[in-house]
Order: sequence, then C-alpha cells, then structure tokens
Amino acid sequence: MSKILIVEDNKTLAKLIAKKLESSLGLSVDVAYTMAEAKLFIARYSYFITLLDINLPDAPNGEIIDYVTQKKIHAIVLSGNIDKSFRKQILKKNVIDYVNKSGVDDINYIIHTIQRLQRNRNHKVLVVDDARVFRHTMQVMLENLFFKVITVAHGEEAIGMLKAQPDISLVLTDYNMPVMDGLELTREIRKTYSKSELCIVALSGNEDEEITALFLKHGANDYVKKPFSKEEFSCRINNSIEALENIQMITNYANRDFLTGLLNRRHFFTELHEYIDNISESAEQFAIGMIDIDHFKKVNDTYGHDVGDKIIVSLANILKSSTSPYDIVARFGGEEFCVVLKNINSYSAQEIFDRIKDDVEKFSYQLKENISIKFTISIGAVLFNEEESVEENINEADMMLYKAKNNGRNQVVFEA
Ligand code: GH3
Ligand code: MG
Ligand code: MG
Repeated sequence: MSKILIVEDNKTLAKLIAKKLESSLGLSVDVAYTMAEAKLFIARYSYFITLLDINLPDAPNGEIIDYVTQKKIHAIVLSGNIDKSFRKQILKKNVIDYVNKSGVDDINYIIHTIQRLQRNRNHKVLVVDDARVFRHTMQVMLENLFFKVITVAHGEEAIGMLKAQPDISLVLTDYNMPVMDGLELTREIRKTYSKSELCIVALSGNEDEEITALFLKHGANDYVKKPFSKEEFSCRINNSIEALENIQMITNYANRDFLTGLLNRRHFFTELHEYIDNISESAEQFAIGMIDIDHFKKVNDTYGHDVGDKIIVSLANILKSSTSPYDIVARFGGEEFCVVLKNINSYSAQEIFDRIKDDVEKFSYQLKENISIKFTISIGAVLFNEEESVEENINEADMMLYKAKNNGRNQVVFEA
C-alpha cells in the first residue's frame, strides 16, 4: 500500500495534516519531527510521496529536500516562507510543488494534488521533441508528476508510437522539428483521435502569436510558451489530463453499466457493429454467447437484493478475467450477460465458454466467515453466421440458452 511521510517539526500541524490525509485519501501516513527521524523512516519504508518542511531543528536550510530528492523520492515542500526568490530557488530542485502551510485551504490543496498524482500513474505521456536535452528535461518533470513517459524525436516516430501504444493519454509536442513540425503532427493526430480520446499540448519558443492560435485551431488542448516555469507546466498538463478524465467519465456513464462497469446493452451493439465493419474484408470468425445465472431468484429471496447485486458483480469480474481485453463483455440487464469472443474458431470458442462455466462453478462468494454462496450459469452460444443479421444471431444464441436451461442448467449449448 502507498505510504506518505510528513517531515515537520510543528507537531500540532504535522498531526493535523496526517489526520486529514489519512481520512480523505485512505493512505497510511508516517510523521517525522526531525531530519534524523525522517532518515530512519526512509531507510525502513518506501514512500509514494513525502511532505517536507524546510526548517527543521537539525536541518534549518532545506537540507532534507536534497536528501530526499537524491534518493529519487517524490517531494512536496511545505513552507511558511512566501519570499518569491526563495520559492523560485526551491522549485529549481526536483520537487513536485511548493505549498504554503498557513491554513485549511492549503491542506485541501495538498490533498487535491496527491489525488491528482495518484491518478497520473494511470496515464502515458508521449513527448515529441528533436532536442535530446529538452526531451530529457520534459521526461524528468513528467515522471516527477507520476506520469509514464515515452519520448520520440520527431513527428513520424510519434505517429508510429501512437499506433503501437493506443493507450497514450497526452502528446506533448514541440513546434520546430524537421520533416513534420508540431502543427502538422497535431493535424495528423486529430484525423484519428478526438479531444475526448487524447490531449495535445504544444510547446514553443516561437514569438509569433499566430502559431498559438493555429495550434489551438487545429486541435491542441493547450499551448505553453517557452521558457515556462515548472509550476505553469505542471498546472497546464494536469488541467488537460483532468479535462480528459472528466470527458471519459461522462462517456462511461453513457456507455457502461453502473453496477458492473461492463458495457451496457446499447453500447454493446455499437461496438459489435464497429467490429463487424472492421473485419468485413477478412475471413475472421467470432462467437457470441448469451449468459444467464441459474435460479438467481433464489439468491435474491434467500440473501436479499444487495447480495444478489454482489453476485452479479462477481460474475462480471469472472467474465472479464476469463476473456481477452479485446473481446466484448456486456451486461444486457438483470443477471443476463453477452460475450463476444473475437477472432476465434468454434473449437476454441466452445473451450472458452466451457471454461467460463467451470470458473463460475468453482467460485464461491464469501458472505460471512461461515457463509459462502455458490451459483452456476447457463450459456447459449453461436459462431456468428454472416448470412444473418446481428439480431438473428443473438436470437439464435438465446434459443441455445433456452435449451441449456431446459436440459438442466449449468451447461453450455453451442451451435457451431
Ligand atoms: P433461471 O434463469 O435459471 O431460469 O432462473 P432465475 O431465477 O434466474 O429466473 P429469472 O431470470 O426469471 O429471474 C431473474 C431474477 O433476477 C428476477 C429479478 O428479481 C432478479 N434481478 C434482475 N435484475 C437484478 C439486479 O440488478 N439485481 C438483483 N439483485 N436482482 C436482479
Ligand atoms: Mg436466471
Ligand atoms: Mg434471467
């Protein structure tokens, strides 16, 4: 589990911050009152983040900052000193932020920052710059913000990398680059990726104001003028990522089932039709399976609706983990699910559906120490018949499901 270390000699303040962080982030927090204590903690545990006071009894001039950053541990500096040049001096070090510690708002800001950093760990950033030194500086700054970072030297390489790693969240591109400049790259990327899928932040030392406008017009989410301060950089990158997350959250609400996080019925059909369009030129085969929990009413009647919901979520997790991330897994409603196994022959499809049925049979949901709930599923499946419509194929799978139920449940009926 991620831990946080607070190094602060004002005991009341340190305890207050620790308590707030523990309750709102659910992380475990250690507190050191001196640099010597901090060293002991650091030798013993690993920390996700450290919060460092500059002025400690045994380290009055920020010595703790150098100690921590040399060990490549992430640090946020806490200070009561609002002197501008001092602040600037500290920010030159490899610290994430310099935060005042005068009030409740400051603690809330720290909490918000840590939450942001935790989520940044899920995001990949692609840095595109022909200057090696600059690529390296960007990489250090972004890794310090917990992003996963990939760097490339020019636009073509960036396009290739986006194809190879489609889960990149943000592209940070320079303007002046040989062959394909940042503006052309932005235009090229926007042909494939919308703003709700990928952010682009452009960087340039160019004085021409038109460039800024052109970048924004052609799909950049933001533009940072060189030279920039580390604070401005962090804020702009974090803002763009936050906007992307918000859009994706809204999209998820529309496309996903609230209880299980699986695709909902409506979006299932969108994805299936897209897939069928994509493979229309090839001989690729795929299978559709309708899945329904056996005697689910009994679970609800015996343990209540809430426990029934837990069983539905457990089944969703089993379906997710026994299929590939490329397959389509949806909750059609109630305790009924639909799974599309892509690029598969009837032999392997039968095998996978059998395995899913077996995995469910082996599983038990631990309700209390001495009560575990077991359940089974029935599956009706078909190898997709391209002579017929999607609806007809699904009806066919439904018929097979009906057969599985009539034959005694806990089985797969597959029509190849
Ligand atoms: P079988 O499919 O084996 O024929 O029997 P069954 O008992 O599962 O039959 P049926 O499909 O008729 O019943 C499904 C029950 O699932 C009825 C309904 O109360 C319950 N149900 C539907 N949606 C939900 C849900 O979201 N949560 C819970 N807990 N129960 C649900
Ligand atoms: Mg049922
Ligand atoms: Mg049912």
